[in-house]
Amino acid sequence: MLLGDASVGKTSLVGRFVNNAFNEAVETTVGAAFSTQSIKAPGSGRQVKFEIWDTAGQERFKSLAPMYYRNASAAIVVFDLTSDVSFVRAKDWVKQLALSNNPNIVIAIAANKSDIPAGQRQVKVEDAKLFAQSEGLIFLETSAKTGSNVSKIFELISDKLPDVPFTPASLGGSGTSARTTSITLGPNDQSTASLTGASSKCCGS
Ligand code: GDP
Ligand code: MG
Repeated sequence: MLLGDASVGKTSLVGRFVNNAFNEAVETTVGAAFSTQSIKAPGSGRQVKFEIWDTAGQERFKSLAPMYYRNASAAIVVFDLTSDVSFVRAKDWVKQLALSNNPNIVIAIAANKSDIPAGQRQVKVEDAKLFAQSEGLIFLETSAKTGSNVSKIFELISDKLPDVPFTPASLGGSGTSARTTSITLGPNDQSTASLTGASSKCCGS
């Protein structure tokens, strides 16, 4: 799932990753939006299907977030390099994730809008990198606008995810060793799924 302050570029990062497109006039996300994308993990070569929940950054969403990350395999915490406030908020999200009852969640920090020149930035990349290092998190500067490092961050996550054991077809598995690992970046229990819906946009507010 994607977390972070409003307007840091969460929806744009998903749009770049899933459709390889960037829309300057992207609509504000209401509640949460769901999409999927499969990639090959560069390390293991296995196929990984990301089930992505793009959440709204609004304050009122904060209370809803735990039901998304409780079942998530991975979280990308996004901040905007031109907003110091968004970096402070990103650190808060990491803290909240650490307190959640999901110790195996893979966390990545995306320092987004790296296309914007240094003179207009408020956050020093070095500070963000040090924070990520101290917390043991994946860290990359990304740009949804140019596409820089967007696939890369998902690739790094896919290599950090735990391997899923092979299940024979007779036991309900695919029966093939060319496994597809399904990675849920958001809720995967029935109660939350029915509450939020698996449509492209919905109404979690
Ligand atoms: P969200 O609220 O976190 O989902 O952010 P959005 O994806 O809606 O983006 C907010 C604004 O930032 C939009 O005007 C985007 O066009 C812009 N934006 C998003 N990513 C980037 C980026 O990498 N570079 C630049 N320059 N602008 C971006
Ligand atoms: Mg959004």
